[in-house]
Amino acid sequence: MTGAGRYAPSPSGDLHLGNLRTAVLAWVLARRSGRAFHLRVEDLDRVRAGAEQRQLEDLAALGIDWDGPVVRQSERGGAHAAAIADLQEAGLVYECFCTRREILEAPSAPHAPPGAYPGTCRDLDPGAQEAGRARMAQLRRAPALRLRAGVDRASVHDMFAGTVTAAVDDLVLRRGDGVVAYNLAVVVDDAAAGVDQVVRGDDLLTSAPRQAHLARLLGLPVPEYAHVPLAVNRDGARLAKRDGAVTLRDRLELGESAAQVMGRIGDSLGLPGCTSAADVLARWDPAAPPDAPWVVELPG
Ligand code: GLU
Repeated sequence: MTGAGRYAPSPSGDLHLGNLRTAVLAWVLARRSGRAFHLRVEDLDRVRAGAEQRQLEDLAALGIDWDGPVVRQSERGGAHAAAIADLQEAGLVYECFCTRREILEAPSAPHAPPGAYPGTCRDLDPGAQEAGRARMAQLRRAPALRLRAGVDRASVHDMFAGTVTAAVDDLVLRRGDGVVAYNLAVVVDDAAAGVDQVVRGDDLLTSAPRQAHLARLLGLPVPEYAHVPLAVNRDGARLAKRDGAVTLRDRLELGESAAQVMGRIGDSLGLPGCTSAADVLARWDPAAPPDAPWVVELPG
């Protein structure tokens, strides 16, 4: 096998049909191309007790298998710290003393997209840095660490969307509470696992360019991306627990089988009659990817 794909759920609750469809597609695209497939639990944040085990069971119930041990992001602190140290050595990290509110209220730089970090702390003189540290100490917080991005946009290639260009700002590498930021962890962990194909929900499409930029600065290979449409409810809002019986567990409780739930996922891809992920592997044509969100309408 050369290269690897992956699925990287956050263990914040049970996987719903949209999450499961994304996992199936990630598995199918990896296996189709002879890649390994890895599972990584993104447990730096938003952890619910027991969710990880339940997610793994649900993926297995649909016929998804994976290679090697499940990686937990919380166990990768050494690698995350080493990557930040490399960037520091290259002069690409600075301390940020801004509160969230200050960032929101700061005038944004010309042409910067809304929400982009305006660069307030990028070039503070040593005196201002000392004052910032003292203020943080009073707030009992550490300064966040930010990347000196050096660019304001970057591009990646997406298997479905083609060339995607999006804004890159001085993104956070380590938060004020000491937790490593998702953008850093995902880049470091994918590269360490040999992941060269990233298939995930298209809510992360505009994050791919910043992640690719970070990978390049770290001297890591940029993976191939494939972002797939999310599942939504009848109103077009992202599918969520409040939409009713939307998880595999919910469907099983209503008397459906895992094969029937897999059938729903297959139907959404225009493949009636699927009973396991292997059926999608055998039949799905990635040249005709879903091009709109999956509007989930369920009985029960
Ligand atoms: N853990 C993220 C999520 O569950 C996915 C991150 C990724 O695939 O890069 O939304």
